[in-house]
Amino acid sequence: MDLYPLFADLKGRAVLVIGGGAVAERKIAMLLRAGARIEVVATRLSEGLQALRRAGQLVHRALVFTPAQLDSAWLAVAATDDSALNQRVAAAAAARRIWVNVVDDVALSSFQVPAIVDRSPLVIAVSSGGSAPMLARRVRERIERLLAPSLGTLAGLLDRWRARIRAARPQVDARRDWYDALLEGKVPALVEAGQVEAAERAVAEALVQPVRQRSGRVILVGAGPGAAGLLTLDALRALQQADLILHDALVSAEVLELARRDAEKISVGKRRVGASTPQAEIHRLLIEHARAGKVVVRLKGGDPFVFGRGGEELEALRAAGIDYTVVPGVTAALACAAYAGIPLTHREHAQSLRLVTAHCADSIDTLDWRALAAERQTLAVYMGSHRLDLLRERLIAHGRAADTPVAIIENGSRPQQRVLVGTLDELPTLASVYQVQSPALLVIGEVAALAARLHWFGAAPLTAGPRELARAA
Ligand code: SAH
Repeated sequence: MDLYPLFADLKGRAVLVIGGGAVAERKIAMLLRAGARIEVVATRLSEGLQALRRAGQLVHRALVFTPAQLDSAWLAVAATDDSALNQRVAAAAAARRIWVNVVDDVALSSFQVPAIVDRSPLVIAVSSGGSAPMLARRVRERIERLLAPSLGTLAGLLDRWRARIRAARPQVDARRDWYDALLEGKVPALVEAGQVEAAERAVAEALVQPVRQRSGRVILVGAGPGAAGLLTLDALRALQQADLILHDALVSAEVLELARRDAEKISVGKRRVGASTPQAEIHRLLIEHARAGKVVVRLKGGDPFVFGRGGEELEALRAAGIDYTVVPGVTAALACAAYAGIPLTHREHAQSLRLVTAHCADSIDTLDWRALAAERQTLAVYMGSHRLDLLRERLIAHGRAADTPVAIIENGSRPQQRVLVGTLDELPTLASVYQVQSPALLVIGEVAALAARLHWFGAAPLTAGPRELARAA
């Protein structure tokens, strides 16, 4: 984080503004909304500022800036088009440890003024650290449209009840549950409809309800392949409710970033090699925390029921009598295919799709190879990238053509996605030449060839023609 967000109480506190033009006027308008006491240093005041001075809203302190004028100020704003003067103001403020904003000059400023959505007392500030103010403004506009104007009234209402709510629900967890229930109930709609008195009555009623016993539960959630946009709305809601998140190594940082700030996160990363938490230990953690009354989100890459051992975890929860719900996710086969431009079925090429895993030699031996080698179908192979030699050998031995198209999609849907296309025969070479890393999904079947024409995300697919192979090697 580049800048530390801060909401400053400026009521009755002096702010020195250097400059008396239109820019200064805009800054002063906002400072006045926050109740600041404005002192202006400028050779000339704009008409707007003169009007404010006549109305007693600001003091025209001097014509010329001197560093000592800063001594009584809490904050300074330099809004002049004289860059030497701006620099002197910045230096004098720094010497006195007074926060200064030099308009349109990130380097000279020690604080930035964010774009805001004002639903006072609820205020949302958006900043790009001065690097992309237009972007911050757009984000602000989107938030503005999202939030009902009545939100400020709602915040004011809750503020009036705050002490009583605290007294009735002294425990933090119970209080948070109470707020959640209240805000999901009818109160926000009443406020939006202008029925503030009815809303107040509803708050009063909710407060005298007995404290509900917190019952812990587990939400088994599919986090999708990595891109946060592929989360479902229910998954997002679960992440926002979680007290504790137990997640796999596959879950992307981008997705975890969307969790409630104070949710505890535990990685129970499962990688084929390296540190991992045994399944029994995962079951134990789920049960223990749910019994302690927590909302536990068990977050898995892709979909929890596709090669995710979600079934085993639910068995354990059912045996322990813990409540659970399941939120499906976009499984890797669907996401990787979409992001590589590979339709998994196609009227001309494939009428069925199989999701298979070729995890280890044992699981490879239990597969029905004759069925897998059949034509006019697509295979999506999970966890398969380390036994590609075996995969090729078995499929060809059972009758699949050696020139069947294949695609390897590494880090599907993520910014670093790579797609490699070739033939079944080339499969192991393709992976080793480009040093494919986990996670990678394999698509075998005629449809894989379509990636060359239909790709749209990230770089074009890499191929294993003799020239490319020589160059890559
Ligand atoms: N439950 C998950 C699969 C877990 S098994 C799901 O539904 O997607 C782990 C395997 O999934 C990986 O070895 C890889 O084959 C595949 N996988 C998961 N995410 C992927 C991604 N972003 N890109 C490519 N493959 C992925």
